[in-house]
Amino acid sequence: MNKVLSKKVLAPNVKEMDVYIPRIARVAKPGQFVIVMPDEKGERIPLTLVDWNSFEGWIRLVFLEIGVTTYKLGLKEVGESLYYIVGPLGNPTYVGKFGTVIIVGGGVGIPAAYPIARAFKEVGNYVISIIGARTSKLLIYEDRIREVSNEVHVTTDDGSKGFKGFTSDMLANLLESGLKPDLIWMVGPAPMMKSCSAIAKKYGVKAVASLNPIMVCGMGMCGACRVTVAGRTRFACFEGPEFDADKVDWDELIKRLNMYRKEEQEALNRFRGALASIAMQR
Ligand code: FAD
Ligand code: MG
Repeated sequence: MNKVLSKKVLAPNVKEMDVYIPRIARVAKPGQFVIVMPDEKGERIPLTLVDWNSFEGWIRLVFLEIGVTTYKLGLKEVGESLYYIVGPLGNPTYVGKFGTVIIVGGGVGIPAAYPIARAFKEVGNYVISIIGARTSKLLIYEDRIREVSNEVHVTTDDGSKGFKGFTSDMLANLLESGLKPDLIWMVGPAPMMKSCSAIAKKYGVKAVASLNPIMVCGMGMCGACRVTVAGRTRFACFEGPEFDADKVDWDELIKRLNMYRKEEQEALNRFRGALASIAMQR
């Protein structure tokens, strides 16, 4: 159980991992996530269910190595087991037949957008995906997004692939050109979602955002993932992770995401130091 079946490097510091866990694979739905503990002494982190196979019993995770826990996860080899996985958690995406749906995915949010685009297309929506990264080397899942979209627009901040600019610039261009989508669904860095949300609001289009606050228990007990939506405190883990984008207090979310940066950096420095001394002893 929890065994790593495969591991691929998709981009610098971005890994895709298939993990054997039939009880989650059997019931997973688009928009849900799991909480993972790579080892017994570590912390719990939330990761989106990017794909799953109910017959073969695996789930697929894609993660950016950004701090101690994601680096620890990335060190797990095929055949090793993760200490703990709980899920599926969070509410599945409401996949209605709306008409035209724009899906916006930024950075490591692109794989998270994949099952959503697939589900919206499967029920007969016309799916327009906007995917973006800082630079072409970091642009992941383009092929898979193409498989489940009617149209794809690629953006890079530096112009190394596709349109030079942000996903939000592309969204603004499409809406400015007269496109009238029935829904915009977004996942990615909070500042990206804040901008996309403002654009959707300007053009009067309903927008849903999948939020990524710091989350610990994942079950509505600890309160770490609290966000303010329409002036009310909501727990993203069990009341979300999706909310109406224009009602989210984005500045508070961005502030809370950065509240432990100093401690996280110290922990990462210590972890790197420990790894270096192990390597020297060998
Ligand atoms: P740290 O150095 O501890 O933290 C780096 C930054 O990550 C922090 O500054 C903070 O902004 C954020 N962070 C830290 N701890 C947490 C935490 N417990 N929960 C959320 N954010 C945290 N990332 C992916 O790469 N792929 C995914 O599919 C994915 N899905 C997510 C789904 C949900 C519902 C949420 C809430 C977050 C998701 N994330 C995903 C973000 C991921 O959980 C964090 O990048 C990860 O927890 C960082 O842990 P760390 O110890 O490696 O880094
Ligand atoms: Mg951490």
